[in-house]
Amino acid sequence: MAKLYFHYSTMNAGKSTLLLQAAHNYQERGMESYLLTAQFDNRAGDARIGSRIGIGREADTFSLSDDLFYKIKKRINDAPCACVFIDEAQFLSHEQVWQLARAVDDLKIPIMCYGLRVDFQGKLFPGSATLLALSDEMREIKTICHCGKKATMVVRQDENGVALTDGAQVQIGGNEAYVSLCRKHWREKVDK
Ligand SMILES: [Zn+2]
Repeated sequence: MAKLYFHYSTMNAGKSTLLLQAAHNYQERGMESYLLTAQFDNRAGDARIGSRIGIGREADTFSLSDDLFYKIKKRINDAPCACVFIDEAQFLSHEQVWQLARAVDDLKIPIMCYGLRVDFQGKLFPGSATLLALSDEMREIKTICHCGKKATMVVRQDENGVALTDGAQVQIGGNEAYVSLCRKHWREKVDK
């Protein structure tokens, strides 16, 4: 039975690596999969899902204007496809997660979403909130804070290591760095 999966974590936990590994497992068994990632600039199409350990694969992109049910349906009609993988799933809209749920139910294809749970202010991303509500199966990808506890939060900090508490949920191309922390150390860092 096809299911909607949500693999969530904080930053730098190795989500893309796990996505690529899972897609590779399908490929080894002679099954093709459809890879999608968020479109951050104006170029639709040829994006790449890359991981920090150096592996990567070509991927299609999604933007907020896409109907993902139809996009997946078209891909399935064009060529055999055993599974859909979505990276940066936190950037899906509420409606798009429903489109994915419909694709799982009506097209009977498994969809594996990988994304961040909360932003640097400790708030759920819209895509992640809806995935937490609708997914058939969820799995936390764990990483650790500098203290050794599980990291569940992320801080956005400037080049001097000062935590930023304001700003847009998505910031592309700045000099900010993201650090994953446990809640206690995140609270200390952002003064909460
Ligand atoms: Zn800690």
